[in-house]
This record gives sequence, structure tokens and C-alpha cells, in this order.
Amino acid sequence: MFFQFNVSVNFNEMMRKHKKIIGLLLSIIVLSCTPRVSKEGMVSFEKDYVDVLIRNVNIFNGTDSMLIKNKHVYLKKGLIQSISDSVPITSKEVYSIDGTDKTLMPGLIDAHVHLSGSGSLPWDNYKGNEAYNLSAYLYSGITTIYDLGGISTSLESFKKKIAQGKFPGPDIFHTHIPITVKNSHPIPLTKELLYWPLNKMVNIIYTTINKPEEAKNLVIKYKKLNVDYIKIIVDEIPPGSPQMPFDLIKELVKESHLAGFKVFVHVGSPQNAIDAINAGADVLAHGIWRGKLTHEQAQFIADSKVPMIYTLAAFNNVNDIRKGTFVPSHFDSILVPMEILKPLFFQSTNTFYSHKNINAFSAFFDDVASKHSFLKYNFDLLTQKGVKISIGTDSSLPGTYAGSNYYREMELLQEYGLSPYQILKGATFGNSKLFLDKPDFGFVDVNYKADLLLINGNPLERLDLVKNPELIISRGRLVKRK
Ligand SMILES: [Zn+2]
Repeated sequence: MFFQFNVSVNFNEMMRKHKKIIGLLLSIIVLSCTPRVSKEGMVSFEKDYVDVLIRNVNIFNGTDSMLIKNKHVYLKKGLIQSISDSVPITSKEVYSIDGTDKTLMPGLIDAHVHLSGSGSLPWDNYKGNEAYNLSAYLYSGITTIYDLGGISTSLESFKKKIAQGKFPGPDIFHTHIPITVKNSHPIPLTKELLYWPLNKMVNIIYTTINKPEEAKNLVIKYKKLNVDYIKIIVDEIPPGSPQMPFDLIKELVKESHLAGFKVFVHVGSPQNAIDAINAGADVLAHGIWRGKLTHEQAQFIADSKVPMIYTLAAFNNVNDIRKGTFVPSHFDSILVPMEILKPLFFQSTNTFYSHKNINAFSAFFDDVASKHSFLKYNFDLLTQKGVKISIGTDSSLPGTYAGSNYYREMELLQEYGLSPYQILKGATFGNSKLFLDKPDFGFVDVNYKADLLLINGNPLERLDLVKNPELIISRGRLVKRK
């Protein structure tokens, strides 16, 4: 949807572009520093690099609708070493656990996050704490995240530290800042989060494209930043703002594909989705919320086989905040720092509008609220036609928090009619294939990464069991909830 602008980290990007104004801006940064959440991380590693044996366990491998019964699964050096009928010979210091009546499944994948977000209300504007968010994802059994808009240098540094085992967190894939056009989403919302003169420079800070000839160089620039895929924004937030024209979408997708990147496209209206698909998009990063789909449009999307990350809960949360009826979930209250969550308890429609200088936010929230019924209508139509629904949250936005919102997303998808099997397959195997042809995660098999959850009972019968796993395993290491 949009992401909260992280002033100090984005500063690096700007310095590269405008070296002469560094001095001036440094002083502005100091003045414009927003408060930062203080909460400690919510997980730790339980034991250091010990091998794990799970005996007599049933397996949901991520894709088969039937459990594979009674296997011994041996995890060694962060990988699934063997899956066997008899107990394997293991190292002496193996951590051994009885898996009787339990289910081993792939760790969850959140296919749409913004790691630098804090989830605060726009006028509170807390700065996100990435390390804290990472711990919240892992707490919730999410062992992989796809960041769809952040700063590559920051994301790369977290990615490396996690891979080196320096602190617990999900594996990160990312795209740097999404590509948009001047004054289009997320520029109007970001302007309202920044102080003068930064708020006058948002068009420079963001990556914008003006003409098709620029696409090639933009993709080259992104390749140098080590991105894993390209993200493009095609939407009208708030109403009346410009949307990326078709020729630019098409050229960006073409150049991305030539450079070997899959393309995620943020869409809002039925026409946005159709443009994106006609341009060759690989993944739609949101459900269709700004208009009602016709049967023909839904059929067109289904026939394209392009998966859609519906981000249902995020839109519901915006609608609830707008109406003053947002209620934090049990896991929100465990995971979200109180300074972020507390203002929502006192939130009402009037509070929202009593805040000046959030005109774009107000217009966006109004737009979501007035079109809220389209989300369910379109969902029903799309799933009837067989569109592949992927699981992602768009955390952290107001009301949509790292980790805990994944449970809300799964609950809503179940309420809307998906089975636990469809949801868990989408959350694991399905998501692992969104942009990688041969992922080494999202599936339980030999030589795959040991990113796993051990669940008491069968989550294909009771989805809610996923919320309280007996073990969370990240790259073979046991994660302890605090
Ligand atoms: Zn987003």
C-alpha cells in the first residue's frame, strides 16, 4: 500500500544525489528526528548450531494436501539432512524431540512487507525499528520476508547479519524503493510525513520514471543495488493523483525481464491489474480494491495465472481505523510496542479528522472506507475463477503490524472461504515460487533450508494451531519466544 518514510536511512540515498546540500540537510535531519520505538526483540536463539532430530513426526510438505506420516527428520548445519522411516545415526550433541501427533511444516513466508515501517498512526510518525520488526516476524513463525519497498543498503546489511547468525530474523529478499511516476503513490502520503524542506523534495528522493527510454538505466541501477526483483506502483492514492501510464509499465517490465528480474506491481483498480498483466507483470502486490471487477476482468486475471497478494487485513485495518472500530488482536498486544498501539485505543473518526496536514491520508482512508465492500466482492469472483492468492501483509502500516498481522490475514482468508490447506500452501510453497524458480525454502524435503515449524496437531484441520508452534526453526536454529 504505502510505506513510512525512514528519514535518516533515506538520507544516504539523497547524499549520493545532492552532495552540496549535505550540510544543510544534516541539521534538518537532527531537527526532524521522529521518536523511535524502544522495545527489545521478542525472540532469541535457544541453542547455538546444534543439530535437531524430530522423531515420529507427520509432515505437511507445503504442497501436498495429505500429511506424510511418521517420519524421522534430521536437521544438520541448517539444512534438512534426511527424512527417513528408521531413526538415523546422528551427531552426539543432537537435540532430539518426539514428534508424535505433531506436524512439521515449512516456515511461513510474508510476501509483502516494509521492514522500516513502525505501524504508528500518521500523525504520531514513529520511526520503525527494523531489528525489532525482524524479531516479531520470527516470533510469528515467519522465516522469510519479501520487502516490497525499503532502502537497499539497510536491507542488505540486515540480510547479511541474519545469514551470518548474528541475530535472529527471517531471511530477507528485497527490491529497494518501488518505481513510480512524479506525484504518484507513495509520494503524496510521504510528503505529509516529512518536514520542510524534505517534504518539498520527495519527487527527487523517490525513483520516478518520466519516459520509456529511462527504464533500462533504472533497472541497471537497481541491479547494482543487489535487488531480488523489481516493484512498480500503478495506483491512484489519494484519488486524483497521477497513475503510471501503460507504456512506462510495459517498458519497465520488459527491461526488468531482460535483466533477469521478476516484477511485482502494486495495483488498485481493475484497470491497473489489467494494464499490469498486459505489460507482463509477474505478481500483483495487492487485491483489487478501487473498483468492482466484471466477470470478464476476473476471468482475464485468472487466465493470466499471475498470482495476487491480496493484503486483505491491511485494507480492513485501514477501514477499521477510519471508522474508529479498530481492535488490536491478542498477538498485536504481545508484539507491538505500547507507544505504537496505545493511540489506536483512543482513535475515533473525529480524531482522524481533527489532525491537520494529513489531507492525502484522510482522502486515502476515506477512499478505502467507501470502497470497502469491493474487496470481498472481487475476492469471491477471483477465487471462483481460480486466481492464485498469495499471503502477504503489507506490514508495518497503521494497524498492520509485523508478524501478528499475518495471523489476521490468514483468519480473514479463511473467513472469506479459503481452506486451511489453500492458505498454508499459499503461505509456504506458493509464496516460495513467487519470483524464484528453484527456491531452497518453503518445502519440506532433503537439502532444503531447515526453516520449519513444529505444530501440535494438524494445522490442515485447525489453522489456528499455527499461532502457537512448539518449535520455530530458522536455518536449523531453534528460536525461543520471549
Ligand atoms: Zn506495500
